[in-house]
Amino acid sequence: MSAFEGFPIEISPAFEGQRVRRKDMYVELGGPKIDYKFELVRVKPMDEVEDGKVEIIGPDLMDLKEGGSYPFAILIYVAGEKLDTDLEGVIERRIHMYTNYIEGIMHLNQRYDIWIRIAKKSVKKGLNSFSWWGRALITLFKSEMPYIEKMQVTFITDPELIKEKYEEALKIYEERDARVRGLKDEEVDMFYGCVLCQSFAPTHVCVITPERISLCGALTWLDARAAANIDPKGPNFPIPKGELLDPIKGEWSGANEVVAKRSLGEVTRVYLYSMFEYPHTSCGCFEAIAFYIPEVDGIGIVHRGFKGTAVNGLPFSTMAAQTGGGQQSEGFLGIGIEWMRSRKFFYADGGWNRIVWMPKDLKERVKDAIPPELYDKIATEEDATTIEDLKNFLLEKDHPVASKIREMEKAAEAEAKAEKVEEVAVQQPVQMPTMPQWTPQIPAQAIQMPAVSAQTGFKITLKGVKIKINRLIIKKAGGK
Ligand code: SF4
Repeated sequence: MSAFEGFPIEISPAFEGQRVRRKDMYVELGGPKIDYKFELVRVKPMDEVEDGKVEIIGPDLMDLKEGGSYPFAILIYVAGEKLDTDLEGVIERRIHMYTNYIEGIMHLNQRYDIWIRIAKKSVKKGLNSFSWWGRALITLFKSEMPYIEKMQVTFITDPELIKEKYEEALKIYEERDARVRGLKDEEVDMFYGCVLCQSFAPTHVCVITPERISLCGALTWLDARAAANIDPKGPNFPIPKGELLDPIKGEWSGANEVVAKRSLGEVTRVYLYSMFEYPHTSCGCFEAIAFYIPEVDGIGIVHRGFKGTAVNGLPFSTMAAQTGGGQQSEGFLGIGIEWMRSRKFFYADGGWNRIVWMPKDLKERVKDAIPPELYDKIATEEDATTIEDLKNFLLEKDHPVASKIREMEKAAEAEAKAEKVEEVAVQQPVQMPTMPQWTPQIPAQAIQMPAVSAQTGFKITLKGVKIKINRLIIKKAGGK
């Protein structure tokens, strides 16, 4: 008999990766429109957990008006002889995976950022209460993680209670992240990986190090290590570091090998401390996106909770589509916010000296990590909403990128002047005296261009770029 006998909907890993579009949803729980939402797992003593209990505080699913978005919290208590608090983050991250096994429930993100949609068609089939979801979670967790001996689930839809518990949850996340601070990548011989998000992003592999939290922000190196130890066949696994190939960019032979294997050869090199050349892949669960701003040669950061448009003119959702999917997108990188506190935060790219813009509330949240001399030099949406504003702000504040901006402006002016001279020359051809013919004394080998056959050719893919061309000059090759 199936463990889900009598359930009105199907429950299977086949539903992982399912999407519920707005027009197909019955309700949305959490998500970008809602300020207060979270999911939290706590390990408790055996006698404090009532195994199998599902509690709903506030209106149940059918009492919520169809089409609405609601504050929402999932609170899970677990107990077991082998459990300790190190595993809370790991168990909590599996809420995402197991909820997505339930037909018609789409779960995205994690911690204080959850975004869930319940499909109308599943409600029609009989998914009329959160209790089905709770029962499914308890069954799945206890069968897949047998060290969980007791489990109870509480769903909260009462907005006031969520608000109150939300602050407590933030404190617990902060305590978890703080445990690993101070531990250095050089001090361990093993990194850890996670492929839990491959159901949505098949080539994505998270490499988690003491100084690089996962991009969802939910798994620290300690969490991933605990998960790999207790469940060696699960989505977390050890990554022997191998040879350190580049200490600045953060490239290790072991990480390259494991990522190549786990991404089925799609990604063969990863720089853990850079957003250029071979950046870490991004799935879709990242807490924030770092984006390169070529006009100022700086990096902007926008977090999921920011509802406006970033300084590059793009909202988070547009950049998320460009960044995610398990690809390496040079110049766009999904990151965990805790990484901003790391010594290795964009270590190869200039670290905080390269950060030029971020939303005000994110800047406030990571204030402790920003070097004090830079704090006022980083623009927010209140200082700059366009690239031009940003440029002026950075020059005025003498941000570390200001000298580069001046250089770029000088180079652009010089180029514009040169082009103007060339244009005048073309418009008013001058009869030049006949010059003796000059043959360049350059060995042919030195000026030979690589041959490109019609068969091989080049494939140029431009993704998410904004191209601004002041003037395009097309000249016939070899012509007069
Ligand atoms: S973002 Fe990375 S660490 Fe987080 S669940 Fe996905 S694969 Fe795992």
